[in-house]
Amino acid sequence: MRRVIELRWDPILEEWVAVSNIREERPWRPSGCPFCPGSPETGSGWSVVVLENRFPMLVPEPPEPTSRRWPFIAVPGRGRCLVIVETPEHSLDDLSDLGVDGVLRVLERVRSVLEELSRDEGVVYALWFRNKGEEVGVSLTHPHSQLYAMPVIPSKVLREMRSCYRYWLEKRRCLLCEVRDAELREGTRIVYRSTDFVAYVPFWARWPFEVHIHPLKHVQSVRGMDRGTLESLAECLTKVLCGLKNLFEKPMPYVMALHEPPLRGEYPWYHTHIEVYGMYRVSGRLKYAAGAELGGGVFTYDSTPERAAEMLRRCIESRC
Ligand code: ZN
Ligand code: ZN
Ligand code: FE
Repeated sequence: MRRVIELRWDPILEEWVAVSNIREERPWRPSGCPFCPGSPETGSGWSVVVLENRFPMLVPEPPEPTSRRWPFIAVPGRGRCLVIVETPEHSLDDLSDLGVDGVLRVLERVRSVLEELSRDEGVVYALWFRNKGEEVGVSLTHPHSQLYAMPVIPSKVLREMRSCYRYWLEKRRCLLCEVRDAELREGTRIVYRSTDFVAYVPFWARWPFEVHIHPLKHVQSVRGMDRGTLESLAECLTKVLCGLKNLFEKPMPYVMALHEPPLRGEYPWYHTHIEVYGMYRVSGRLKYAAGAELGGGVFTYDSTPERAAEMLRRCIESRC
């Protein structure tokens, strides 16, 4: 079978789709944890370890794309898929269980990977993300996150950057900073604040417990953040994830992503932030992206973001 590893561009929705047929043999729940210390892949004596994904979406030397001719444009799936094993402790449930120090170690590792990738001319973007819970397809429970080094800017970030750039052209201000300041002024959706970061449920949240974490000042990237700033981010992230975990009897399944600017260039109009999408509406009841969402692109929100923020804020105050 011909190996296909490419990114296909949908010019109608202006989105990339990553296509790879080498992931077909991906195992569901292999026996034995490949991330535990002492396994052939990880070795021992580490607190955070970065591995190559054995079933990558993107590879350093991809085959030629199947088509480059309009309207079927594809680019080679050149890049890397990394797994960040966040702790040697297999039995911890979530990133927040590592505590602020443990989360800081993870963030420092992510920062160094971003710095390393920024020197690789073939890589345009690095997307760090974390899936939590069986409901979102996590097959290995050992705490880990992933980082995709990509040859293109992921569509969602691209869309954000476009509107931020347009806003900048008109007003000479960062749209993300303006929205953050408006959330700070209004206050009702703020979930947590550390020295340098604020977490809030956006006015236009789509997922039941969606939380965005923004720096209080316009900090372009996690690269170049000093230890103090990174620690403040670790604190904010730990509190948010701890709140999500303890909100209901069952820990909240979530997806988290770091929205960085591209690896090279200056972006006075776009700054780094983290988005977390907590997916339970009520305990054990998952919110699905279904007809309205997938079919129409309109998320339905069965409460108010203000109410969700209040619940989460109270939970963090009392339990984290
Ligand atoms: Zn393990
Ligand atoms: Zn900004
Ligand atoms: Fe974003």
